[in-house]
Formats: sequence, structure tokens, C-alpha cells
Amino acid sequence: MLDAAGKKVVVVGGGDTAMDCVRTAVRQGAKSVTCLYRRDRKNMPGSAREVANAEEEGVIFEWLAAPKAVLGDAARAAGLRVARMELGEADATGRRAPVEIPGGECDLDADMVIKALGFEPEDLPHMFGEPALKTTARGTLRVNPQTLETSLAGVYAAGDIVRGASLVVWAIRDGRVAAAAIAAQLKLAAQPIAAE
Ligand SMILES: Cc1cc2nc3c(=O)[nH]c(=O)nc-3n(C[C@H](O)[C@H](O)[C@H](O)COP(=O)(O)OP(=O)(O)OC[C@H]3O[C@@H](n4cnc5c(N)ncnc54)[C@H](O)[C@@H]3O)c2cc1C
Repeated sequence: MLDAAGKKVVVVGGGDTAMDCVRTAVRQGAKSVTCLYRRDRKNMPGSAREVANAEEEGVIFEWLAAPKAVLGDAARAAGLRVARMELGEADATGRRAPVEIPGGECDLDADMVIKALGFEPEDLPHMFGEPALKTTARGTLRVNPQTLETSLAGVYAAGDIVRGASLVVWAIRDGRVAAAAIAAQLKLAAQPIAAE
């Protein structure tokens, strides 16, 4: 687990995960906590109440700021190079896209940099060395929706790796569905073969 105690922490991102990271870093006793977000306060996806709560706890927000490079070496971050942004034209989703202001770079002091930038599944077939493990276009695992069995017989999957970023209650429910399907499968396998 990451330990932010005594560290100058910079969290990159503006969603609920970023808010969890900054407030956890405060509770772990970080020396300073800064949140970097590439749009402005009004366009931040995280909850406005959480931003206000984080500010009350001493978190500094750097609005219209995007990371360019982590300074330091592979073993230890020493800072973050930051580009200053402005809001340009609206993109396909209707949100104004952040555009870099040329020459607006600056360096922030940091000895821990946390990327809180969304949820992407790993390349699971590659990671597990199982090319036959089928995935969806989003990279989540393809399962039988009734049993949650994957494309590998006897291998089941539940929760975020099937649904994408979701909620604890769904992961628990999926776990129960998979457990019931596994139990049914085992019972079936254990049945004595009827005499002819
Ligand atoms: C910052 C954040 C805040 C959230 N807040 C909320 C919230 O307020 N309410 C809510 O309902 N949900 C929240 N969620 C979502 C919730 O955490 C997930 O939906 C839920 O944890 C999914 O459960 P899961 O069992 O599918 O996956 P996980 O909880 O991610 O569990 C997967 C487990 O598998 C382990 N693992 C990974 N790879 C391997 C491997 N190769 N071998 C062995 N083990 C492995 C991991 O270490 C992990 O313990 C939040 C998520 C994040 C990231």
C-alpha cells in the first residue's frame, strides 16, 4: 500500500478517485497535498462537495494544469513539470477541451505522484498467458451472463473485471451468482452415474 506520510503528494485527476486519493493522503499525514486538474473547478467531474471538503482539509487545487513529465529518476519522483491550460472549443461531448498555453510550464515539488485518471483493464489474456480468454471491446472479460463462466471452462469472473468500473454491491452480487453456478457445476460433476 502507498504511504503518503511526510511526503509532498501531487494527485493528477479531477474525479471521485482523485478526491479519495487527496483526502486519504491528508489522513496518512502527507506534508502537502496538491490536486492537478486540466479543466477548471466548474468543469471538474468530481463532486463539488468533496472538493470543498478537501480544501477545508488543506488540499491545494491547481486548476487548468496538466502534467508534462515526472521529474527525478525511476526510483524516486522529485517533482512534476506542469503545463498551464485554457479552455478552448467544445469537443464532441459538448465540453470545452483544455488547450495548453505555450510557454506556461512550471515545476511543482513532489515526492509522490499519483495518477487518478480512470479505469482501464489490463490485457488479461496476455497477463495470464491465456489467449483463449475472451474479452469485450472495452477489455473486460466476456462471460456467460447466467453463470459468469468465462470462455475458459471452469473459470469464472465477477465484479469490475466483467462490468468495468462499478460498485461494491454489484461485485458482491456477481460473486454470489458465480459461487452458486460453481456449486451447481460441482454437484453435477459429483453425481453418481446411473446404472444402465
Ligand atoms: C478510488 C475508488 C473509490 C471507490 N468508491 C466506491 C464507493 O464509494 N462505493 C462503491 O460501491 N464502490 C466504489 N468503488 C468501486 C469499488 O471499489 C469496486 O466496484 C469494487 O471494489 C469491485 O470489486 P471487485 O472484487 O470486482 O474488484 P477489486 O475490489 O478491485 O478486487 C480485485 C482483487 O483482485 C486482486 N488481484 C488483481 N490481480 C490479481 C492477480 N493476478 N492475482 C491475484 N489477485 C489479483 C486485487 O489485488 C484485488 O484485491 C471505488 C473504486 C475506486 C478505485
